[in-house]
Amino acid sequence: MYHAPGEETERSKGGGKEQLRDWPIGDISPRWRRAVFLDRDGTINRDTHFPYRPEELEFEQNAIEGLRILSTLPLDLIVVANQAGIALGHFTRQQMSEFNAALRSGIETAGAHIDAFYYCPHLEPKHLKPGQTPCDCSKPAPGMLLEAAKEFEIDCEKSFLVGDKRSDIAAGKAVGCVTILVKTGKAGREGSALNVEPSHKAADLYEAAVMVRSYLQRESDERVSRAPS
Ligand SMILES: [Zn+2]
Repeated sequence: MYHAPGEETERSKGGGKEQLRDWPIGDISPRWRRAVFLDRDGTINRDTHFPYRPEELEFEQNAIEGLRILSTLPLDLIVVANQAGIALGHFTRQQMSEFNAALRSGIETAGAHIDAFYYCPHLEPKHLKPGQTPCDCSKPAPGMLLEAAKEFEIDCEKSFLVGDKRSDIAAGKAVGCVTILVKTGKAGREGSALNVEPSHKAADLYEAAVMVRSYLQRESDERVSRAPS
């Protein structure tokens, strides 16, 4: 079944699966099978408290520079964003899609790219009343990463996650990613109750991208040094 971006999809009623991908629409052709999962608000763009108006879009410190580096690497760049603003009634899926499109356009204009946007439209654990069960896609749960991994055939244990919140780090760790906490946005101050430590800390998305690039560089150096002479 075809769904326009942002169109309401039916919540799963035992068996049916809710669409967590905002973009691209349609079938996926897996490419690198290895990803950098990126948080959105506070990591790529400024977290201006439930941003959704394209005119509110402001990139985080050095985020564009970081995305330019990541765009040169053999990795799928996949945004995984909790968007509880939808369940809270701050904005609609359609408005989120428009914001994502503006974000993508700004990134592409700067000579970088994003390969996909996944989102969770549900309440986050902190919004739930006692007795309510959290969904399996709101970070710290890894549902969005698992969905993206299935669709893009990604090996999560060879992949990376970059985010500004402990809940991002927890989601990345749950699937075996190398995790990088950036000091932009919430800078790890939120969700300190989650007892998780990132693999690395970085000042911003640029520094995180440099770290990811060095990982790949080290791997290729090791391959060369192991090769028979
Ligand atoms: Zn969810």
